[in-house]
Amino acid sequence: MELIYSKGKAGRRGSSLPELDVPASNSIPCELRRKKAAAMPEVSELEAVRHFTLLSRRNMGVDSNFYPLGSCTMKYNPKFHEKIASLPGFADLHPLLPQLRRGGALTQGALAVIYETERMLSELLGFSHCTMQPLAGAHGELTGVMLIAAYHKAHKDPKRKIMLIPDAAHGTNPASAAMAGFDTFTIPSDAEGNVDLKALQNALNENVAGIMLTCPNTLGLFDPNVKEICDLVHRAGGLAYCDGANFNAIMGRLRPGDLGFDVMHVNLHKTFSTPHGSGGPGSGPVGVCEKLVPYLPISRVAKRSDGTYALDYTHRESIGYIAPFYGNFGIILRAYAYLMTLGREGLVRVSENAVLSANYIRVKLAPYFDQQYPGYCMHECVFSATRQTEKGVHALDIAKALIDRGIHPPTIYFPMIVKEAIMIEPTETESKEDIDKFIQVMIEIAKLADGNPDEIKKCPMTMPIRRLDETQAARKLDLASLE
Ligand SMILES: *Cc1c(COP(=O)(O)O)cnc(C)c1O
Repeated sequence: MELIYSKGKAGRRGSSLPELDVPASNSIPCELRRKKAAAMPEVSELEAVRHFTLLSRRNMGVDSNFYPLGSCTMKYNPKFHEKIASLPGFADLHPLLPQLRRGGALTQGALAVIYETERMLSELLGFSHCTMQPLAGAHGELTGVMLIAAYHKAHKDPKRKIMLIPDAAHGTNPASAAMAGFDTFTIPSDAEGNVDLKALQNALNENVAGIMLTCPNTLGLFDPNVKEICDLVHRAGGLAYCDGANFNAIMGRLRPGDLGFDVMHVNLHKTFSTPHGSGGPGSGPVGVCEKLVPYLPISRVAKRSDGTYALDYTHRESIGYIAPFYGNFGIILRAYAYLMTLGREGLVRVSENAVLSANYIRVKLAPYFDQQYPGYCMHECVFSATRQTEKGVHALDIAKALIDRGIHPPTIYFPMIVKEAIMIEPTETESKEDIDKFIQVMIEIAKLADGNPDEIKKCPMTMPIRRLDETQAARKLDLASLE
């Protein structure tokens, strides 16, 4: 495709501004002004519209393609939630508007949304309270482990500096623990893909601050020993953190707080319907049990006895601010709309269907792809391209072949404990027909990989960019030049 810079003609404009009806002013100091006009494309409105429309068609998104990106829950986000989030009474609010009295009527609705969402989430997770502030899942993890650090500090137990992290945890877990000042220690998985209990017992001592358990884990498995793991860590004086970004698998069916976890985050942008990708936007509320409530970040929305809502900053032991203002309000609002639309029964159906879809794919593709940890999975299934590798076809080649067939690639090479991993998360929003089409495509690719591997290694054939040198592409990012 032609670049927009090579389009148009000198002097061509897409819009015209009305005549100035106030005195001209330029408050930018002379030395900061451009000496030469910026080299902007000079195009008509039609040329600009065509350019951006064509670019947008090159995107793969949930609204255009099946998007089985494991551990990301790329489910369909109902347009109704977008409508709610764009209501001017919410969208036009300024975070510094007064909360009460004069002008209070403007913000009481937004505070009620934060409060009610916090109450519903606490109920779903099985915790006494949540903070709605964190701006991403990993930010929720950081907040959660900071709460664990605050707890040990308040209990005069500062030597607890070790955070245990199973090798089937999400990659952000060790990073968050390290950022909060912990040393991390890896606990291996056993042959079934669960936490190796012997190794856990051996690692527990008076220096352990806690464990960060991804639940379900990144193998798409629910560890049957979760309760015992929490008990063991508690008995050693540590706290148990649940990475609940994969909450889509268990929502409404199980409350992590009831299993013994002390603190967890969920990703509103994954489970609770917000369009996301490429790093944002996000919201990672953190739920805590009673003993961690005093350390929750400020501010928190409180409901007063007269029924009004206000921001409460009066928590002496709080870890302080972890985000500006009140979190990612637009995402909290979408989650509120999602929760209210589905209700208790609807939320259970979500997780049931998410798990059903993943298991359907797992069983249908089992004859064609190896599985390192076979057996019943939760919201995602993880295959291994080991059989295909014998013919020179790797997980990456399969991902590229899927692009040519109109499907966004699954997550590949993650989790790292699976060789040639292909991690598929279909979500509950895909129809059986579309899942069947995906299965057919995967079978076709498996057969090609066996009979005609070179065809797969050439993919993608239909895209404007063919194979990139992935390392160089990351190091020397060039978004402007196309083949
Ligand atoms: C997505 C994910 C995260 C990180 O969430 P972000 O919002 O991308 O920071 C953490 N843990 C698990 C298991 C995840 O799937």
